[in-house]
Amino acid sequence: MLLSWDVVVIEKTRGPPTGNPTGAGIALHPLSQKIVKSWLHQPDLLHNITLPLTIDQNRAVDQEKNVCRILARDENFNYLQAHWTDLHSLIYNTLPPEIFFWGHLYLTFCISHDKSTVNVKAKNLKTDEVIDIAGDLLVAADGSRSSVRQTFVPDSKLRYTGYCAWRGVFDFSENENSETIQGIRKAYPTLGSGVHMDLASGTYTVLDELMYKRLNWIWFISQSEPPLKGDSATMKVSSDMIKKMHQEAEKIWVPEFARVIKETKEPFLNLIYDCDPLTQIYWDNVVLIGDAAHPITPHCARSTNMAIADAAVLGGGGQKIYIQLWKNINLLGYLSLPSKSCIRGEWVK
Ligand SMILES: Cc1cc2nc3c(=O)[nH]c(=O)nc-3n(C[C@H](O)[C@H](O)[C@H](O)COP(=O)(O)OP(=O)(O)OC[C@H]3O[C@@H](n4cnc5c(N)ncnc54)[C@H](O)[C@@H]3O)c2cc1C
Repeated sequence: MLLSWDVVVIEKTRGPPTGNPTGAGIALHPLSQKIVKSWLHQPDLLHNITLPLTIDQNRAVDQEKNVCRILARDENFNYLQAHWTDLHSLIYNTLPPEIFFWGHLYLTFCISHDKSTVNVKAKNLKTDEVIDIAGDLLVAADGSRSSVRQTFVPDSKLRYTGYCAWRGVFDFSENENSETIQGIRKAYPTLGSGVHMDLASGTYTVLDELMYKRLNWIWFISQSEPPLKGDSATMKVSSDMIKKMHQEAEKIWVPEFARVIKETKEPFLNLIYDCDPLTQIYWDNVVLIGDAAHPITPHCARSTNMAIADAAVLGGGGQKIYIQLWKNINLLGYLSLPSKSCIRGEWVK
């Protein structure tokens, strides 16, 4: 950060992610790579946790006819692929641990009469103690279901897009030469250097490799909105749902990919939401960033890249170059573009 702010982070999760929890890949575009490197004490460490995505390939798959046909292939994709926990740890380790209030739930905020300060109340989830934090600026990065956004724009509702995504990370660190890995490398020869999208009627998948011997996959499925418990867009799945998903995968996708899906531990299901672009994202000394400011569908690797650009603009102290970048990316570029391959509620057939 270029501004010398004293920062306090309020996070309801009990601590930083440890080990190798389930999660997903993050494709970093060249601008994000530059920004993240500028935050690190040793910029090249970004390459230790990422694999290059130089190829972006789209293929049509017809299992019944046993046909796969390449529809589009970009060999200058120039992204880097990271597991989100690796990226999180890399950035987190550059920051002093005492600024983090883990296990604290943000409750409310109040702007002072002269608008010079903003007071935030947060609850320690272990002790139930409510603490007050006074600051000059509240940066709300509380995700697509942002309660801060709700305060300013109560009418802005998330919209179910008509589809969900099964996701998983297949860890092959214990057996690099298993039949499954040999098979998938044969079926996708550029695995390890590209992102592979397979399209079938009404559905599509994404497959790529992550550093430290893992494969990241996503499978988008059109369906009506399942009932959700709590305020997370990630759904708890039963063993029956997983079994059914495995059976469907065998019918639709190439056998090598269906096998990776089948052998992935703890796959999970995300419901996909977005909302109309907001016309305003800051009010006095409160600003929304990331998914709180622009909840969008997770295509073309937009979301995290936009959140990174938002942080760069704020941390850059209003520098002209960052503000211009941010306007280009958020307002003119990403937000106004329709998703790459999806018409609301139904994949292009
Ligand atoms: C299927 C799918 C695939 C995706 N793939 C990609 C991809 O390949 N590339 C990509 O860039 N993006 C992808 N995304 C999107 C990406 O996950 C989000 O855009 C990104 O996580 C947004 O970051 P954020 O920090 O704004 O919000 P979040 O990651 O949602 O973080 C919000 C944080 O705020 C905390 N919080 C919320 N409320 C409170 C509260 N009251 N008190 C305290 N803490 C609170 C939460 O615990 C959380 O840690 C994908 C999303 C989905 C659903």
